[in-house]
Amino acid sequence: MRSSRPTGSLVALVAAAALAFGVGVTPASAHPPHPGHGGKVSEATGYGGAVATVDADATRVGLDVLRKGGNAVDAAVAAAATLGVTEPFSSGIGGGGFFVYYDAATGKVHTIDGRETAPMTMRSDSFLENGVPLLFADAVTSGLSVGVPGTPRTWATALEQWGSLDLRRALRGATDVARRGFVVDQTFVDQTTANVARFSAFRSSSDLFLRRGAPPAVGSVFRNRDLADTYDLLARKGADALYTGRLAQEIVRTVQDPPVRRNSPLVVRPGLLELGDLAAYQAPLREPTHVTYRGLDVYGMAPPSSGGSTVGEALNILEASDLGDTTQTLHHYLEASALAFADRNRYVGDDAFVDVPLEELLSDEFAAERACLIDPEVALTKPVSPGVPDGDYSAECETAAVGTEGSDGQSTTHLTTADRWGNVVAYTLTIESLGGNGIVVPGRGFLLNNELTDFNFTDTQGGADPNLPGPGKRPRSSMAPTIILADGTPFLALGSPGGSTIITTVLQILVNRLDLGMDLPAAVAAPRATQRNTAAVQAEPGFDRTALQALGHTFADNPEIGAATGIEFLDGGAMQAVAEPTRRGGGSAAVVVHGS
Ligand code: GLU
Repeated sequence: MRSSRPTGSLVALVAAAALAFGVGVTPASAHPPHPGHGGKVSEATGYGGAVATVDADATRVGLDVLRKGGNAVDAAVAAAATLGVTEPFSSGIGGGGFFVYYDAATGKVHTIDGRETAPMTMRSDSFLENGVPLLFADAVTSGLSVGVPGTPRTWATALEQWGSLDLRRALRGATDVARRGFVVDQTFVDQTTANVARFSAFRSSSDLFLRRGAPPAVGSVFRNRDLADTYDLLARKGADALYTGRLAQEIVRTVQDPPVRRNSPLVVRPGLLELGDLAAYQAPLREPTHVTYRGLDVYGMAPPSSGGSTVGEALNILEASDLGDTTQTLHHYLEASALAFADRNRYVGDDAFVDVPLEELLSDEFAAERACLIDPEVALTKPVSPGVPDGDYSAECETAAVGTEGSDGQSTTHLTTADRWGNVVAYTLTIESLGGNGIVVPGRGFLLNNELTDFNFTDTQGGADPNLPGPGKRPRSSMAPTIILADGTPFLALGSPGGSTIITTVLQILVNRLDLGMDLPAAVAAPRATQRNTAAVQAEPGFDRTALQALGHTFADNPEIGAATGIEFLDGGAMQAVAEPTRRGGGSAAVVVHGS
């Protein structure tokens, strides 16, 4: 499908020449301090490196790092740290994420598992009271939902392994934005508004995010000096400063004794986190998942995320099917998603605790057994049962017992970076719900995560639920940062937020790009639908349903699904950075040197 591809050194040469002659390069100092979220550009093509995030400040800070000679890893950390300032309800040092990295020097894809861990005192029934599961909202806004944050350790690990900057220098741009402030946009106001009730319950959260009980005004300048100071602390002492010492003590105190106002109507349960949990935290390197699709190598995130295995299995099912026209392609996309979700729900969890049959789930033979269930003329009745990934695929269309699950939060963020040397990062990070658990660590400027609500509170799989809480366990994620190589060099990197819709959003963008002939901007912008093994397909208003309804698919409305970013590596060595044109207020894509 794709032909001549320049070598990494040619790309570097073109970029270096462009930089030397200043073609299209605006020096960082020529930018107004913090232009805010207005004037975002959702697509940019050129050379010398690229950044795509949901936010103009984060993209600018990442790009500055690239311009000054930093690499894709440096830029990713710098941009992520800035998102912690400007998108504090989606991500930050109180949360976790998954970092996928293509190393041009070795041609290898690496991943960092920065997922939060449950405290050592957590048990399978920790989300039950008198045998009854807590209401989800009650569990979210509590100390109980807080896992050990993985993001600071992820940044430190990424920089140590592959960066050229240390944490101190990588945090500089973000600290500057936190201290000097950024211009509040409508998305920030909307996300604050959604949290007013629970932020009001905590003095620390309302002091930081509310102005006399209300969100700040669009166009006002928002400063977070506490976070700037916390970043300074990490800059001086390294990521350890969050896992040991005073900050760790303050996190533990906040979790065990949430600073809820006395007159608040909210019942805020204390959590289980202890100092030893923080001190023991690790962000391990893990082997990526790998499948081939249409001759491309697709790398994703292994357990405890279900992103890589579910996107990979669905791609394998699609490859085992005859896709035909657009309707048939979308029909197969929905069916493959449902089948892969049934298997995800039944088999995928933290593989330090459960035996995840990852190799089988990603095998072509298993995919063929699953694909044989798809009828081109009639949609399967949902939920479908999981398959049996036992290595014995002679039986036709073998299935096991049913189970469903799926959330579609509006939190989380994904960023994608690439540098002039050909290194690439796809990084998805989160604090789980929009606004995490709602509790700012007093005086520290960041929200805590509620990632442990990604565990199932009760067994959904008839005694075999792989995603029940456990001591030191990581809750199953859907985050799916993905890097795709063609002939061993980068072709595409992408990811999205959106709870379990992350998986279908990444998959649908790939189907749009690879099977329906769209370019990346169109593939990202196209209306989305998500089938996660539920009776109805959720679809955005613009998604064309008629032909699929004729095949038996039923639909429910979902106003907005995902907020993707990605970079495609074009023939001729150019990079095409792409963000959302409109979802979540639109994203921000940039390249170091414009041109195609
Ligand atoms: N916590 C979710 C996960 O790890 C992501 C939340 C979201 O995207 O809204 O899958």
